[in-house]
Amino acid sequence: MRAEVIAIGDELTSGERLDTNTQWISKQLTDIGLEVMFHTTVGDDLAANIDVFQAAIERADVVVCTGGLGPTADDLTRDAIAAALRVPLVRDEESLEHICSLFTKRGRQMPERNERQADFPQGAASIFNPNGTAPGIHAQATKAAGGSCHLFALPGVPAEMHEMYTATVAPAVLSLIGEPRVIRHRAIKIFGPGESQLESMLPDLIARGREPRVGITASGATLTLRITASGPDEASCLAAMEPTAQQIYDAVGKYVFGEGEIDLHHATQQLLAENNATLATDECFTRGLVASWMAEDELAERTFTGGQLSWTMSDVAQAASDVRERLGSTYGLAIGPPMATEQVTVAVADERRVVTEDFKLGGHPAVVGPRIAKCALNLLRR
Ligand code: ATP
Ligand code: MG
Repeated sequence: MRAEVIAIGDELTSGERLDTNTQWISKQLTDIGLEVMFHTTVGDDLAANIDVFQAAIERADVVVCTGGLGPTADDLTRDAIAAALRVPLVRDEESLEHICSLFTKRGRQMPERNERQADFPQGAASIFNPNGTAPGIHAQATKAAGGSCHLFALPGVPAEMHEMYTATVAPAVLSLIGEPRVIRHRAIKIFGPGESQLESMLPDLIARGREPRVGITASGATLTLRITASGPDEASCLAAMEPTAQQIYDAVGKYVFGEGEIDLHHATQQLLAENNATLATDECFTRGLVASWMAEDELAERTFTGGQLSWTMSDVAQAASDVRERLGSTYGLAIGPPMATEQVTVAVADERRVVTEDFKLGGHPAVVGPRIAKCALNLLRR
């Protein structure tokens, strides 16, 4: 089933406020197996809203929109949906009573304009809003090409929207899907190869239409292989993913540092903790980046004896040994020199020796620092 998420409001199209609703809703829909094909953001303009709804109805089976349900003149979602469905707005007495009662509870007289919030496109159902005056709308539209589309409209206030989505929209969408199905993911985290290099090491796995599906995403030099399976229950999903995960470990296992929501530094600190080992750092090129990652981790007190920031570093190997000795750690890590134009050296010292590795530089300064810091952690792990 295809879905579309629509966010309505001038504050979104003008860039004044970030549209977080779309991200949240898309994640909910994807988790239960819908394919979100479109995100549309539209300002508070009636004609534009009608266009957007008409397009969405034709190309999606489920449409969820947020915003524009308030009582003011710029809140046009009710009117736009009614126009897109070519039906009039009719007043729902039950919703009107609920809105009145909210005002009574707050000891206030209901302004007349709030009555609008009890208007619904003919044939649509209201979605109860326990916390605010704007009820949601659930309407069913017929596509020009036949078939139908379910349209859910929710208020823009994120907290109200979340609660109404969970209580009402999620069960309605699940019942549209029919047979109960769960979706499970496994995220295998990789550091070392580049994205296309990784893809070439996993022939066939990344192909579209494969079951279970495998996707690659890159973030800050770390790659994630995400396996997605659907089935009648969790156990069947996990079983369906296992052979694929095994194939990944067979092909690129030496680059894997963990699974799930894990950072390279945390995986490194877990490894240190398992071995009752500690690290001290002396950073010139990365200006304390490794130290800040290490220090903010929950294992910091067990694995990190301290970090130094140096403005010059003529001998990186010596710096690694020195900081190790001075801060009394199992390993010393040094990264320098300060402003290398072509290459930077990483050194890891232990009691017996110092291992160094040179890395060629290239890319935007904002990505080079974190990448070299991760290369350093990776050298430590080996
Ligand atoms: P109500 O007027 O009853 O609060 P509404 O449906 O009219 O509800 P809006 O007036 O459009 O909602 O927005 C209410 C609040 O929610 C505003 O602060 C707005 O910035 C915020 N908001 C609206 N849409 C989004 C969105 N997509 N992501 C994050 N915040 C949003
Ligand atoms: Mg608005």
